[in-house]
Amino acid sequence: MTLIVHKYGGTSMGSVERIKNVAKRVAKWHKAGHQLVIVPSAMSGETNRLLGLAKEISSHLDSRELDAIAATGEQVSVGLLALALREQGIEAVSYAGWQVPIKTDSAFTKARISEIDDTRVVADLAAGRVVVITGFQGVDPHGNVTTLGRGGSDTSAVAVAAALKAEECLIYTDVDGVYSTDPRIVDDARRLSQVTFEEILEMASLGSKVLQIRSVEFAGKYQVKTRVLSSLTDPMIPLDEEMRSGTLITFEEDERMEKAVISGIAFQRDESKITVRGVPDRPGIAYQILGPIADANIDVDMIIQNQSIDGKTTDFTFTVPRAEYERALTLLEANVREHISSASVLGDPKVSKVSVVGVGMRSHVGIASKAFLTLSEEGINIQMISTSEIRISVLIDEKYMELAVRALHKAFELEKA
Ligand code: ADP
Ligand code: ASP
Ligand code: MG
Repeated sequence: MTLIVHKYGGTSMGSVERIKNVAKRVAKWHKAGHQLVIVPSAMSGETNRLLGLAKEISSHLDSRELDAIAATGEQVSVGLLALALREQGIEAVSYAGWQVPIKTDSAFTKARISEIDDTRVVADLAAGRVVVITGFQGVDPHGNVTTLGRGGSDTSAVAVAAALKAEECLIYTDVDGVYSTDPRIVDDARRLSQVTFEEILEMASLGSKVLQIRSVEFAGKYQVKTRVLSSLTDPMIPLDEEMRSGTLITFEEDERMEKAVISGIAFQRDESKITVRGVPDRPGIAYQILGPIADANIDVDMIIQNQSIDGKTTDFTFTVPRAEYERALTLLEANVREHISSASVLGDPKVSKVSVVGVGMRSHVGIASKAFLTLSEEGINIQMISTSEIRISVLIDEKYMELAVRALHKAFELEKA
């Protein structure tokens, strides 16, 4: 008997009919003799609806209250799924994050899981029950409900799988695996039967929302066997067929990796860019500019500091998520006024990041120049560049983002097997 964790995303839980299908699929696995923990998300659109209600009430959103509101979407899902499982003749029990408990820190709206107490779940499983646990939410040391950031149910599922030492974590979603790029943007995107942990880590951090980045971090840290697959297939397809479908995250590069230099194109539409002009070229200036931004818990991504031409002043540019743009700009303007009065601040909230990812980059040269040539042929100006061993990212005007993704996908022939 093996323990398997299933995660079902918003679309998979999107209607009563879909929830009944999830229950049928889970029942099939249960009848085959597996122990099962199921982690559903809120029904599709529900988290947005809840956050929208909060915004209608207040423009100064308190993050503790936001989490209390947003977490209710998953609370409904676990109850409905447990009922649907009972209809299938399966003994099922639902738990909210605090009931397990899934312990987190107190960083409301982006809390991190610190520990999962498995006592209750293990007892239920031993008694033959299917356990249904809310995705996305946990509880902080003071008993407050927290959420793990948008898309956080992936992380809940992989963390639960790690805590319970599950045989496998199956992430059921509305696509049948991880593709070479978002199939909503490129029609002939190709499904990858395997992707390395490093590649999916880069893709997730670079904007591919198929998996939340923290779920990939957990999978890597605890070596959780994780597979992304479709929940929209016939729930009664044979188990062995289902086990072979989708995309498996691997922890070792196999011989396939020699062939596929590039695995995918990731993109992040909602970026913004802030430049400080006329910054004195002296030690400590990067800290002076970015310190207050980091203290405000704003993630800074790409950073460029030019060398000064006259030996006196330089420009300093960095990117932050667009949702944080106004806050970062206000903080920086105040900081510059007070500490670097010679400098000026300007920003652009309409930029996007496009990234080419592949472990094969390590052993192949010319990938960056091919990417730059492709973009230049489309007349797309590159504003910033950053690289790692296995990726190249460029910052471009938002209006060219989809064009850039399609052009790069074609140039690297990612539609071909
Ligand atoms: P869920 O609600 O199941 O968590 P998400 O909407 O969070 O689903 O993630 C699945 C979506 O991720 C897909 O519908 C697809 O549009 C998008 N996506 C982005 N990049 C990729 C990629 N490289 N491969 C597959 N899907 C991707
Ligand atoms: N319901 C949450 C969200 O919409 C978590 C998730 O779907 O993973 O972000
Ligand atoms: Mg998701």
